[in-house]
Amino acid sequence: MTARLIDGKAVAARLEERLAAESVRLAREHGLVPGLATLLVGEDPASKVYVRNKNKRAERLGFHSVSFHLPADAGEADVLARVGALNDDPKVHGILVQMPLPKQVREAAVLDTLDPRKDVDALTPTNAGLLLSGRAKLVSCTPLGVMMLLKDYGIEIAGANALVIGRSLLFGKPAAQLLLAANATVTMAHSKTRDLAEQCRRADILVAAIGRPGLVKGNWVKPGAAVIDVGINRIEAGDGKYKIVGDVDYAAARERAGAITPVPGGVGAMTIACLMRNTLIAACALAGLPAPAV
Ligand code: NAP
Repeated sequence: MTARLIDGKAVAARLEERLAAESVRLAREHGLVPGLATLLVGEDPASKVYVRNKNKRAERLGFHSVSFHLPADAGEADVLARVGALNDDPKVHGILVQMPLPKQVREAAVLDTLDPRKDVDALTPTNAGLLLSGRAKLVSCTPLGVMMLLKDYGIEIAGANALVIGRSLLFGKPAAQLLLAANATVTMAHSKTRDLAEQCRRADILVAAIGRPGLVKGNWVKPGAAVIDVGINRIEAGDGKYKIVGDVDYAAARERAGAITPVPGGVGAMTIACLMRNTLIAACALAGLPAPAV
């Protein structure tokens, strides 16, 4: 059996079409232009690309888009002052602080300063707590993207055994909460988990967010399972070139899975689209408008 390919690019493109249409409607009916601000601290090349792509995408959807760049040696107080100014800026509805931050800037201090209503990555304790309480308005972008892919491809979540490998605040923890809320029986695995292969073999939905290329082997996959590969790993491809691969041994896994996300073109494609969705939802909430169904 060869797995069905879960095409994140296509699902993301359809989501963005809906967002662009909604953006036009909000401007026409309410004079509201959703605004996204990105804040980059330091010179990490990958982070620079991510931030540039986020601002470009926001512009393409007709959003107001601003970017701020502080030097790698910026003090924590400077970063907090910038976040505070963005909290107070009425044209900005979503604030994206690109992680990781340089070590002199505490991530917790930044998240404690960020207005939860503008926290479009949903990393603040307020938004994490609302998710736990089943009352979230803003949900972390990549886990939200994963749930949209499962829904779009008609993958049965209720009653399924779902395994989430990785327990980060950014992905693993919110992904497990969303799957639980959708009535999966959720197991979380991490670096101390015993016999990961056995845990994988029980999973109807296997979600890997580890950051280790090909760690999940093809013969760990339960036949017919949905395999969601969140990993983004840059590996040498010979001749001084690099390629991006996931956490799952894709070629072997697709022979056993029922459906599988490729890397690239799977989960990663959804993340920025979901960031745009969150910016639009935040803009509506701040303007006192009902959340649009996007
Ligand atoms: P992270 O904070 O580094 O967390 C990695 C998790 O993997 C940790 O919970 C760690 O366990 C676990 N782990 C490490 N080695 C393991 C092993 N041998 N067996 C089982 N678990 C193991 O990473 P993250 O931010 O969640 O990101 C994970 C991956 O997803 C990365 O490749 C990242 O680039 C990618 N990612 C992609 C997107 C996207 O847009 N597609 C978004 C976010 C992240 P411990 O907790 O015990 O250390």
